[in-house]
Amino acid sequence: MEKTLHVLIVDDDDVDRERLRRMLNSSLDRIQLEEATSADQALSVLPKQVWDCIFLDYHLGESSGLDLLQEIRARISTPCAVILVTGLGGENIAAAAMREGVSDYLIKYQMDEKQLIRSLMGAVHRADIERQMHELAHYDTLTHLASRTLLTDRLQQTIKRSKRSQKLAALAFIDLDNFKPVNDTWGHAAGDQVLIEISQRLVHGARASDTVARLGGDEFVLLLNDLLSDDECEKLLQRIHKILIQPIILPDDIEIRVTASIGVTMIRDENLDADTILRQADQTMYRVKNTGRNHLKFFDPEAEKRLQARQNAFQSILAGLKNDEFRLYYQPKIDLKSSRLIGLEALLRWQHPTKGLIGPGEFLFTGEHDKLGVQIGEWVLREVLQQLQIWHRQGLSLKVSVNISAKHLQRSDFTTRLKTLLGKAPQVPATALELEILETVEAESITGVQAIIDECKTLGITIALDDFGTGYSSLTCLRRLPIDVLKIDKSFVINMLDNAEDYSIVQGVISLCKTFGHQIIAEGVESSEHIAKLIELGCPFGQGFGIAYPMPADETPVWIREHHLHANKPLSDLPRQ
Ligand code: C2E
Ligand code: CA
Ligand code: CA
Repeated sequence: MEKTLHVLIVDDDDVDRERLRRMLNSSLDRIQLEEATSADQALSVLPKQVWDCIFLDYHLGESSGLDLLQEIRARISTPCAVILVTGLGGENIAAAAMREGVSDYLIKYQMDEKQLIRSLMGAVHRADIERQMHELAHYDTLTHLASRTLLTDRLQQTIKRSKRSQKLAALAFIDLDNFKPVNDTWGHAAGDQVLIEISQRLVHGARASDTVARLGGDEFVLLLNDLLSDDECEKLLQRIHKILIQPIILPDDIEIRVTASIGVTMIRDENLDADTILRQADQTMYRVKNTGRNHLKFFDPEAEKRLQARQNAFQSILAGLKNDEFRLYYQPKIDLKSSRLIGLEALLRWQHPTKGLIGPGEFLFTGEHDKLGVQIGEWVLREVLQQLQIWHRQGLSLKVSVNISAKHLQRSDFTTRLKTLLGKAPQVPATALELEILETVEAESITGVQAIIDECKTLGITIALDDFGTGYSSLTCLRRLPIDVLKIDKSFVINMLDNAEDYSIVQGVISLCKTFGHQIIAEGVESSEHIAKLIELGCPFGQGFGIAYPMPADETPVWIREHHLHANKPLSDLPRQ
């Protein structure tokens, strides 16, 4: 045996202690003995060092050695051999003690020196193995930082403590931003060096009460205990961040620069479990990654709630699509002078299981989510084409315009998929379709959209610029996009009769259209006064509640027939929905 064994004897009987000490000293050269005569004394010497073995007397005055054993186990985190020493006839106790986790037991007055040493060596050996296993499970082999297991353990303790003491703690998730290229360029050995250096910097920057862990790869976690304020936490982490991003010099003068993204969550008395806290910090770290990396961000519970609400909304929209709860309503567009129907605009509605029929204003913002927006858009296109096919069979050849979100239109496969959908409605000519694009499609994405619009136009589809006047890129759009129709936004039209500014905007847009040679249609035509004024200003087409409300598909042919019959009557007599 090479190393010195550190052994603690806990026994209140002077003679027994003396005997044990003598036996141990006479057979082992390298042994350092410490003695305690009571449970209290044992607990006070316990933290002095790492013990290889503790001899515990079963009868310790008032208390039992087994009670003390539990105390000891609770106080030291690494495995240590414990040998229980009992009086004569203590075999039953000893068996129970083995179940409690003692390494071995010896019966006083029966044991000889050989037996004692064999027992001690065996117990120490087993404890060593246990310690190694413990080390493997609790520490990262490369950096010797805490492993996920140990971190979770410590985090659970921190959570318990924060509940009792209302002390602040924090968990920081740290991820290196550009670590992979280090491995790829300089090899894994260099990568390992960098990880070790980063670990050392973390340990250096952290305080003794903190836990530094590595979860694998280039992911580190700092558990900060006993903080006074959020502010203190931020300062500490800013300092650590600064240290982390200093250049790392490897042998051969290779200089490596990595940066770090840090997501932090505060641990307060909030009844959160370890998994939730880790997830919060992890998510926040991802937010840092998505917003330029290499900085620090705190978890924001309000933002989390909003995100959660959005995700729930996505889920329910998806379910709505699956359960066929979406409907299209159609709003007629007419020639203002002759009242002739020129087309319909398809408007999305949701027959919600609990909220009833709701309009896009109540749910479409969630459709901003790229994938979902596209899914909804495709559903609308498919539905419109099927409806056109039905109307075609009924002898109605109509033109329907569809609102297309910018995200949907910008997809590179937009036209390919549109052609597929057109192919599934062979009786419907592409000219029966119009796409309404929001003017707010950003100026910089126009170039990308231009090719798609060109292709649509080649197919025969017409393009309308929607909500014109509300965006900021009006002129750029007008000049560069090959659009056919411009829709003056309803907000200007509705108020044009008593708001001079809106009136002049409508007037201006109409003359602009004439300059560019586009067709023009006014939205928000709510009364016959609107119609008269728009005709006077030279706007030929209109759409609005004053003409017809959006209506379900099966009511549309009825409306068209009625409208045809009453076309020459005053507007107030037209059917309303
Ligand atoms: P939008 O494209 O400007 O559609 C016209 C909106 O104005 C419709 O609201 C329509 O009901 C309403 N409206 C029509 N006439 C009048 C009127 O005289 N006065 C007033 N105050 N309002 C009138 P809705 O159906 O609630 O749609 C709101 C917006 O949602 C639409 O504005 C459009 O941007 C979007 N949207 C509707 N359906 C779809 C769709 O299928 N896909 C996409 N991506 N967006 C859609
Ligand atoms: Ca529209
Ligand atoms: Ca509009």
